[in-house]
Amino acid sequence: MGAARSWASTLTRSLTSEPNVERGNVVNVVLMGPPGAGKGTQAGTVASLVSVTHVASGDLLRELVKQDTDQAREVKAYMDRGELVPDELTLAIVMARLSEPDCENGFILDGFPRTVSQARALDEELAGTGRRIDRVINLVVPEDVLLGRLSGRWLCRDCHASYHAVFSPPTVAGVCDKCGGQLYQREDDTLETARRRLEVYERDTLPVLEYYRTTHDLVDVSGDGSVGEISEALREAIMTPPAEV
Ligand code: AMP
Repeated sequence: MGAARSWASTLTRSLTSEPNVERGNVVNVVLMGPPGAGKGTQAGTVASLVSVTHVASGDLLRELVKQDTDQAREVKAYMDRGELVPDELTLAIVMARLSEPDCENGFILDGFPRTVSQARALDEELAGTGRRIDRVINLVVPEDVLLGRLSGRWLCRDCHASYHAVFSPPTVAGVCDKCGGQLYQREDDTLETARRRLEVYERDTLPVLEYYRTTHDLVDVSGDGSVGEISEALREAIMTPPAEV
């Protein structure tokens, strides 16, 4: 039987949200793309469209740094500098999340893996539990667009709504339209840190794309467009069956 037919059955299950944890009915996706490509926004939307769980390594790490421990302070220092948190710790946190029941029917990984060693370790750990990455999607966005997006981002301290100084400014500067909360810039969203994050991406994460191009089914999707257009393109990329093998 062709890969196309089993893929269609996988997605039918997914789209109807029928609980089923047999290997053939699960879609596990890695969403790649540089910081600022919109992975976070898109991964959440597309995960609900295809009824799988959105897992973002950055969110998991931000939860961790709220703790009052030496490890949390160490992790925060890496994040504030725009550098990668060490592989071993990040892998442990992500694998713990992927072993939770809501990931059994499939997941979209966002922000992980960011190094080839994370990608290899992820494949090995998943194989150990009879799972695998079914599809890798690469969101492609030009660098000048990325810098503009990253350095203008403002977030609400209370409801976490996201604004952009140029593309989606709040009505009153510094105040959230939705709840009146105070807006702030994440320490890793300034222009200097944004540049650093893109350099780190090129150095450590581009090789991950090369790894996936040779070992997995990798699809490029343009991330330069409206939020709705990009969600639709991503949904289509997940729904398109892999080439016959
Ligand atoms: P993000 O929210 O994905 O932009 O991640 C914010 C920060 O968390 C990154 O700049 C890194 O410091 C850290 N981080 C997130 N994911 C990873 C990962 N897979 N490996 C190492 N560090 C990570």
